[in-house]
Amino acid sequence: MKAVQVSTPGGLEALKLVDLTDPVPGPGEQTLEVKAASVNHLDLWVRKGLPVAKYPIILGSDAAGIVLETGRRALLNPSTSCGTCEFCSSGDKPLCLKFAIFGEHVNGTQAQRICVPAENLIPFPDTISFEEAAAAPLVYTTAWRMLITRGRLAPSEDVLIWSAGAGVGVACLQLARLAGARVIATASSDEKCERLKNLGADFVLNHAREDVVRRLRELTNKRGVDIVVDYIGKDTWGRSVQCVRRGGRILTCGATSGYDPAEDLRQIFYRQIEGIGCTMGNNKETLDALRPIFEGRIRPVIDSVIPLANVADAHERIARRAAFGKIILNP
Ligand SMILES: [Zn+2]
Repeated sequence: MKAVQVSTPGGLEALKLVDLTDPVPGPGEQTLEVKAASVNHLDLWVRKGLPVAKYPIILGSDAAGIVLETGRRALLNPSTSCGTCEFCSSGDKPLCLKFAIFGEHVNGTQAQRICVPAENLIPFPDTISFEEAAAAPLVYTTAWRMLITRGRLAPSEDVLIWSAGAGVGVACLQLARLAGARVIATASSDEKCERLKNLGADFVLNHAREDVVRRLRELTNKRGVDIVVDYIGKDTWGRSVQCVRRGGRILTCGATSGYDPAEDLRQIFYRQIEGIGCTMGNNKETLDALRPIFEGRIRPVIDSVIPLANVADAHERIARRAAFGKIILNP
Protein backbone atom coordinates (compact mmCIF):
# COMPACT_ATOMS: atom_id res chain seq x y z
CA MET A 1 0.00 0.00 0.00
CA LYS A 2 1.01 3.62 -0.53
CA ALA A 3 1.77 5.86 2.45
CA VAL A 4 3.31 9.25 3.21
CA GLN A 5 6.37 8.55 5.33
CA VAL A 6 9.14 10.62 6.90
CA SER A 7 12.34 8.67 7.66
CA THR A 8 14.66 11.59 8.32
CA PRO A 9 13.11 14.89 9.45
CA GLY A 10 13.71 17.86 7.19
CA GLY A 11 12.21 20.09 4.52
CA LEU A 12 9.60 19.17 1.91
CA GLU A 13 12.07 16.64 0.48
CA ALA A 14 11.64 14.60 3.67
CA LEU A 15 8.11 13.65 2.53
CA LYS A 16 8.26 10.31 0.71
CA LEU A 17 5.44 8.39 -0.93
CA VAL A 18 6.45 4.83 -0.10
CA ASP A 19 5.16 1.33 -0.85
CA LEU A 20 4.66 -0.69 2.33
CA THR A 21 3.16 -4.09 3.02
CA ASP A 22 -0.48 -3.89 4.14
CA PRO A 23 -0.77 -3.57 7.94
CA VAL A 24 -2.29 -6.47 9.90
CA PRO A 25 -4.70 -5.70 12.77
CA GLY A 26 -3.44 -6.56 16.26
CA PRO A 27 -5.64 -7.59 19.20
CA GLY A 28 -8.59 -5.19 19.54
CA GLU A 29 -7.79 -3.47 16.26
CA GLN A 30 -9.71 -3.06 13.03
CA THR A 31 -8.59 -2.09 9.54
CA LEU A 32 -9.74 1.17 7.98
CA GLU A 33 -9.56 1.45 4.21
CA VAL A 34 -8.77 5.15 4.07
CA LYS A 35 -10.89 7.16 1.62
CA ALA A 36 -9.73 10.57 2.84
CA ALA A 37 -7.04 11.82 5.22
CA SER A 38 -6.49 15.44 6.19
CA VAL A 39 -3.31 17.44 6.70
CA ASN A 40 -2.80 19.31 9.98
CA HIS A 41 -0.16 21.83 10.99
CA LEU A 42 1.08 19.08 13.31
CA ASP A 43 2.29 17.18 10.21
CA LEU A 44 4.69 20.05 9.45
CA TRP A 45 6.21 19.84 12.95
CA VAL A 46 6.60 16.06 12.67
CA ARG A 47 8.18 16.43 9.23
CA LYS A 48 10.66 18.99 10.59
CA GLY A 49 11.46 16.78 13.59
CA LEU A 50 9.78 16.25 16.97
CA PRO A 51 11.48 14.52 19.92
CA VAL A 52 8.35 12.42 20.68
CA ALA A 53 8.09 11.04 17.13
CA LYS A 54 9.76 7.72 16.27
CA TYR A 55 11.06 7.76 12.70
CA PRO A 56 10.31 6.40 10.18
CA ILE A 57 6.71 7.49 10.73
CA ILE A 58 3.59 7.66 8.55
CA LEU A 59 2.13 11.17 8.83
CA GLY A 60 -1.49 12.15 9.43
CA SER A 61 -3.88 12.25 12.41
CA ASP A 62 -7.27 12.34 10.68
CA ALA A 63 -8.89 9.77 8.42
CA ALA A 64 -12.27 8.57 7.23
CA GLY A 65 -13.02 5.42 5.29
CA ILE A 66 -14.58 1.96 5.35
CA VAL A 67 -13.94 -0.50 8.18
CA LEU A 68 -12.99 -3.72 6.39
CA GLU A 69 -14.26 -6.00 9.17
CA THR A 70 -17.76 -4.45 9.27
CA GLY A 71 -18.21 -2.63 5.96
CA ARG A 72 -19.23 0.50 7.89
CA ARG A 73 -18.17 4.09 7.24
CA ALA A 74 -16.08 5.45 10.10
CA LEU A 75 -13.79 8.31 11.01
CA LEU A 76 -10.83 8.09 13.34
CA ASN A 77 -10.62 9.53 16.85
CA PRO A 78 -7.03 10.81 16.48
CA SER A 79 -5.65 9.94 19.92
CA THR A 80 -5.18 7.10 22.39
CA SER A 81 -4.26 6.99 26.08
CA CYS A 82 -3.97 4.49 28.95
CA GLY A 83 -7.59 5.03 29.99
CA THR A 84 -7.00 4.42 33.71
CA CYS A 85 -4.53 6.98 35.13
CA GLU A 86 -5.50 10.01 37.25
CA PHE A 87 -5.70 12.19 34.13
CA CYS A 88 -7.69 9.76 31.98
CA SER A 89 -10.05 9.21 34.93
CA SER A 90 -10.77 12.94 35.25
CA GLY A 91 -11.39 13.77 31.58
CA ASP A 92 -7.86 15.02 31.00
CA LYS A 93 -6.85 12.40 28.43
CA PRO A 94 -4.32 14.76 26.75
CA LEU A 95 -2.34 14.90 30.04
CA CYS A 96 -1.95 11.10 30.19
CA LEU A 97 1.70 10.00 30.14
CA LYS A 98 0.69 7.39 27.53
CA PHE A 99 -1.21 9.95 25.42
CA ALA A 100 -0.51 9.36 21.72
CA ILE A 101 -1.70 11.04 18.54
CA PHE A 102 -1.70 9.13 15.25
CA GLY A 103 0.97 10.61 13.01
CA GLU A 104 2.91 12.08 15.94
CA HIS A 105 3.67 9.37 18.50
CA VAL A 106 2.65 6.40 16.33
CA ASN A 107 2.09 5.76 12.62
CA GLY A 108 -0.61 7.95 11.12
CA THR A 109 -3.40 8.03 8.59
CA GLN A 110 -1.91 9.16 5.27
CA ALA A 111 -1.94 5.66 3.85
CA GLN A 112 -4.31 3.43 1.92
CA ARG A 113 -4.92 1.23 4.97
CA ILE A 114 -4.45 1.69 8.71
CA CYS A 115 -4.98 -0.67 11.65
CA VAL A 116 -6.24 1.10 14.76
CA PRO A 117 -8.03 0.25 18.04
CA ALA A 118 -11.68 -0.52 17.21
CA GLU A 119 -12.80 1.94 19.91
CA ASN A 120 -11.15 4.77 17.96
CA LEU A 121 -13.44 4.24 14.96
CA ILE A 122 -16.53 6.45 15.08
CA PRO A 123 -19.41 5.81 12.62
CA PHE A 124 -20.67 8.87 10.75
CA PRO A 125 -23.88 9.54 8.80
CA ASP A 126 -24.26 9.19 5.02
CA THR A 127 -24.96 12.92 4.76
CA ILE A 128 -21.29 13.62 5.53
CA SER A 129 -18.68 12.99 2.82
CA PHE A 130 -15.45 11.10 3.53
CA GLU A 131 -13.59 14.37 2.93
CA GLU A 132 -15.71 16.28 5.46
CA ALA A 133 -15.39 13.45 7.99
CA ALA A 134 -11.60 13.42 7.58
CA ALA A 135 -11.45 17.20 7.97
CA ALA A 136 -13.10 17.22 11.37
CA PRO A 137 -11.69 15.17 14.27
CA LEU A 138 -8.40 16.81 15.28
CA VAL A 139 -9.30 20.46 14.79
CA TYR A 140 -12.86 20.32 16.14
CA THR A 141 -11.75 18.28 19.17
CA THR A 142 -9.01 20.83 19.83
CA ALA A 143 -11.35 23.78 19.30
CA TRP A 144 -14.02 22.30 21.59
CA ARG A 145 -11.68 21.59 24.50
CA MET A 146 -9.97 24.96 24.10
CA LEU A 147 -13.07 27.16 23.82
CA ILE A 148 -15.75 25.28 25.72
CA THR A 149 -14.00 23.16 28.38
CA ARG A 150 -10.80 25.04 29.15
CA GLY A 151 -11.89 28.49 27.90
CA ARG A 152 -15.34 28.41 29.59
CA LEU A 153 -16.84 30.38 26.69
CA ALA A 154 -20.19 32.01 27.52
CA PRO A 155 -22.83 33.19 24.99
CA SER A 156 -22.45 36.85 25.98
CA GLU A 157 -18.72 36.91 25.31
CA ASP A 158 -16.53 38.38 22.57
CA VAL A 159 -13.87 36.17 21.02
CA LEU A 160 -10.93 37.28 18.88
CA ILE A 161 -9.49 34.56 16.60
CA TRP A 162 -6.16 35.31 14.91
CA SER A 163 -5.70 33.86 11.40
CA ALA A 164 -9.10 32.24 11.59
CA GLY A 165 -8.82 30.72 8.11
CA ALA A 166 -6.57 27.96 9.45
CA GLY A 167 -8.21 24.58 10.07
CA VAL A 168 -8.51 25.02 13.84
CA GLY A 169 -9.47 28.68 13.39
CA VAL A 170 -12.47 27.83 11.22
CA ALA A 171 -13.51 25.23 13.81
CA CYS A 172 -13.18 27.83 16.61
CA LEU A 173 -15.23 30.34 14.62
CA GLN A 174 -18.03 27.87 13.93
CA LEU A 175 -18.16 26.52 17.50
CA ALA A 176 -17.99 30.00 19.06
CA ARG A 177 -20.91 31.12 16.88
CA LEU A 178 -22.81 27.94 17.76
CA ALA A 179 -22.25 28.80 21.44
CA GLY A 180 -23.76 32.24 20.84
CA ALA A 181 -20.58 34.30 21.22
CA ARG A 182 -19.65 37.35 19.14
CA VAL A 183 -16.65 36.58 16.94
CA ILE A 184 -13.99 38.93 15.61
CA ALA A 185 -11.83 37.03 13.12
CA THR A 186 -8.62 38.11 11.43
CA ALA A 187 -7.06 36.96 8.16
CA SER A 188 -4.21 38.02 5.91
CA SER A 189 -6.30 38.94 2.85
CA ASP A 190 -9.61 40.58 1.99
CA GLU A 191 -10.68 37.41 0.19
CA LYS A 192 -10.19 35.32 3.34
CA CYS A 193 -11.96 38.00 5.40
CA GLU A 194 -14.94 37.72 3.06
CA ARG A 195 -15.03 33.95 3.53
CA LEU A 196 -14.83 34.32 7.32
CA LYS A 197 -17.74 36.76 7.16
CA ASN A 198 -19.72 34.18 5.17
CA LEU A 199 -18.96 31.59 7.86
CA GLY A 200 -20.61 33.81 10.46
CA ALA A 201 -17.84 36.05 11.84
CA ASP A 202 -19.47 39.20 13.27
CA PHE A 203 -16.45 41.34 12.39
CA VAL A 204 -13.43 40.60 10.22
CA LEU A 205 -10.07 42.37 10.28
CA ASN A 206 -7.36 42.12 7.63
CA HIS A 207 -4.31 41.86 9.91
CA ALA A 208 -1.98 42.49 6.95
CA ARG A 209 -3.13 46.09 6.60
CA GLU A 210 -5.25 46.94 9.66
CA ASP A 211 -4.10 47.82 13.17
CA VAL A 212 -5.86 44.96 14.96
CA VAL A 213 -5.32 46.34 18.48
CA ARG A 214 -6.76 49.75 17.60
CA ARG A 215 -9.71 48.32 15.63
CA LEU A 216 -10.42 45.86 18.43
CA ARG A 217 -10.59 48.67 20.98
CA GLU A 218 -13.05 50.51 18.73
CA LEU A 219 -15.22 47.44 18.21
CA THR A 220 -15.39 46.65 21.94
CA ASN A 221 -15.67 50.24 23.15
CA LYS A 222 -12.14 50.03 24.66
CA ARG A 223 -13.13 47.04 26.81
CA GLY A 224 -11.21 44.35 24.92
CA VAL A 225 -12.42 40.83 24.18
CA ASP A 226 -13.18 38.17 26.78
CA ILE A 227 -11.19 35.51 24.94
CA VAL A 228 -8.34 35.60 22.44
CA VAL A 229 -7.55 32.43 20.48
CA ASP A 230 -3.85 32.59 19.61
CA TYR A 231 -2.07 29.62 18.01
CA ILE A 232 0.26 31.94 16.07
CA GLY A 233 2.53 32.70 19.04
CA LYS A 234 5.53 34.96 18.61
CA ASP A 235 4.02 37.26 15.94
CA THR A 236 0.75 37.89 17.80
CA TRP A 237 1.12 37.15 21.54
CA GLY A 238 1.98 40.72 22.57
CA ARG A 239 -1.04 42.05 20.68
CA SER A 240 -3.24 39.31 22.16
CA VAL A 241 -2.35 40.62 25.62
CA GLN A 242 -3.31 44.13 24.47
CA CYS A 243 -6.61 42.92 22.96
CA VAL A 244 -7.90 40.89 25.90
CA ARG A 245 -10.07 42.58 28.55
CA ARG A 246 -9.09 42.86 32.21
CA GLY A 247 -9.47 39.38 33.69
CA GLY A 248 -9.84 37.84 30.23
CA ARG A 249 -8.39 34.61 28.83
CA ILE A 250 -5.83 33.95 26.11
CA LEU A 251 -6.12 30.43 24.73
CA THR A 252 -3.25 28.73 22.95
CA CYS A 253 -3.03 25.35 21.23
CA GLY A 254 0.08 26.01 19.18
CA ALA A 255 2.68 28.55 18.13
CA THR A 256 3.08 28.42 14.37
CA SER A 257 5.24 31.58 14.17
CA GLY A 258 7.51 30.73 17.13
CA TYR A 259 7.12 29.67 20.76
CA ASP A 260 9.16 32.36 22.54
CA PRO A 261 7.29 35.68 22.42
CA ALA A 262 8.37 38.62 24.57
CA GLU A 263 6.07 38.89 27.59
CA ASP A 264 5.43 41.86 29.89
CA LEU A 265 4.39 40.08 33.09
CA ARG A 266 2.98 43.31 34.56
CA GLN A 267 0.19 43.03 31.99
CA ILE A 268 -0.53 39.49 33.21
CA PHE A 269 -0.71 40.18 36.95
CA TYR A 270 -2.08 43.74 37.11
CA ARG A 271 -4.78 42.98 34.57
CA GLN A 272 -5.24 39.43 35.89
CA ILE A 273 -5.09 37.78 32.49
CA GLU A 274 -5.30 34.00 32.24
CA GLY A 275 -3.10 32.21 29.72
CA ILE A 276 -4.69 28.82 29.07
CA GLY A 277 -2.80 26.07 27.29
CA CYS A 278 -4.66 23.36 25.50
CA THR A 279 -3.92 20.38 23.31
CA MET A 280 -6.35 17.91 21.73
CA GLY A 281 -9.23 16.62 23.87
CA ASN A 282 -10.90 13.65 25.52
CA ASN A 283 -13.33 11.24 23.84
CA LYS A 284 -16.40 13.09 25.13
CA GLU A 285 -15.08 16.34 23.68
CA THR A 286 -14.51 14.64 20.33
CA LEU A 287 -18.09 13.32 20.31
CA ASP A 288 -19.50 16.69 21.45
CA ALA A 289 -17.56 18.49 18.73
CA LEU A 290 -18.63 16.04 16.02
CA ARG A 291 -22.34 16.01 16.88
CA PRO A 292 -23.19 19.42 15.34
CA ILE A 293 -21.34 18.31 12.22
CA PHE A 294 -23.24 15.02 12.04
CA GLU A 295 -26.49 16.98 12.51
CA GLY A 296 -25.59 19.33 9.65
CA ARG A 297 -25.54 22.40 11.91
CA ILE A 298 -21.97 23.17 10.89
CA ARG A 299 -19.96 21.92 7.92
CA PRO A 300 -16.19 21.47 7.93
CA VAL A 301 -14.55 23.81 5.43
CA ILE A 302 -12.37 22.13 2.84
CA ASP A 303 -9.61 24.10 1.13
CA SER A 304 -8.76 21.48 -1.47
CA VAL A 305 -8.70 17.75 -2.17
CA ILE A 306 -5.46 16.42 -3.67
CA PRO A 307 -3.83 13.02 -4.31
CA LEU A 308 -1.61 11.48 -1.62
CA ALA A 309 1.38 11.93 -3.94
CA ASN A 310 0.99 15.73 -3.80
CA VAL A 311 1.33 15.97 -0.01
CA ALA A 312 4.28 18.38 -0.34
CA ASP A 313 1.94 20.93 -1.96
CA ALA A 314 -0.25 20.76 1.15
CA HIS A 315 2.70 21.38 3.49
CA GLU A 316 3.88 24.28 1.36
CA ARG A 317 0.38 25.81 1.29
CA ILE A 318 -0.07 25.50 5.06
CA ALA A 319 3.43 26.87 5.74
CA ARG A 320 2.67 30.12 3.92
CA ARG A 321 -0.83 30.27 5.48
CA ALA A 322 -2.46 30.11 2.04
CA ALA A 323 -4.98 27.39 2.91
CA PHE A 324 -8.51 28.27 4.01
CA GLY A 325 -9.89 25.32 5.94
CA LYS A 326 -8.56 21.81 5.57
CA ILE A 327 -6.50 20.19 2.84
CA ILE A 328 -7.62 16.61 2.18
CA LEU A 329 -5.53 13.81 0.70
CA ASN A 330 -7.17 11.07 -1.33
CA PRO A 331 -5.17 7.85 -1.08
ZN1 LIG B 1 -3.94 7.78 31.22
